[in-house]
Amino acid sequence: MARKFFVGGNFKSNGTVASIKSIIEHLNNAKLNPNVEVAIAPPAIYLLLANEITRKDIAIAAQNIFDKGNGAYTGEISAEQLKDAGIHWVLIGHSERRALLGESDKFIASKTKAALAQGLSVILCIGESLEQREAGVTIDVVTSQLAAVAEEVSDWSKIVVAYEPVWAIGTGKVATTAQAQEVHAAIRAWLKENVSEKAAEETRILYGGSVTDKNSKELAQQPDVDGFLVGGASLKPAFVDIINSAA
Ligand code: PGA
Repeated sequence: MARKFFVGGNFKSNGTVASIKSIIEHLNNAKLNPNVEVAIAPPAIYLLLANEITRKDIAIAAQNIFDKGNGAYTGEISAEQLKDAGIHWVLIGHSERRALLGESDKFIASKTKAALAQGLSVILCIGESLEQREAGVTIDVVTSQLAAVAEEVSDWSKIVVAYEPVWAIGTGKVATTAQAQEVHAAIRAWLKENVSEKAAEETRILYGGSVTDKNSKELAQQPDVDGFLVGGASLKPAFVDIINSAA
């Protein structure tokens, strides 16, 4: 089965009612390659607005959830609530949350399990720091991040993996096509060995980290790059060109 190219836009904690409306209006009017699946992840406060005004062939994703369900968890949003609100996707394990909020592999695995239990689809983010890359442990790091999730989850059909080297996020320093392909291939090999042949064949592996309309075409041609998770550039009109750069 061919893997459908997937492009996610992670707005992070950016935007206003007015700017989110204008980004979405631009996407609504754009000519998008129908062979590309697109999801945008605005800040939680704009999810319902985005869901209401975005064209239906673009999915809306939350940037996070809590793993405990509804209850006395002030400030958190449950998978149940996302489902109730008609939001079908969620980003889990973004490196900014791992680093700034101390999210552990175990917590991320638990959130992934909670999301899947509600029928949500998950963009699972993994990636190594600069120190880890320089120490030559990139593959160990990303596979142990995957292994934590595999301990909780056996069905990967609703998971999209986003490989985002931390040193490439928001830095303008994109991984080379060879660096991206090497890690993506290792992730696929890991899935084959540790989950199933089907998961290895069907799971989309996205690259993230300083993706722009200038570098997306070349990255998209790599055999194991099945799309992108885009931060900064997803707020700009050129996001459309990134979506349309599918090989
Ligand atoms: P960036 O962010 O495209 O701004 O580097 C990517 C991400 O954090 O998902």
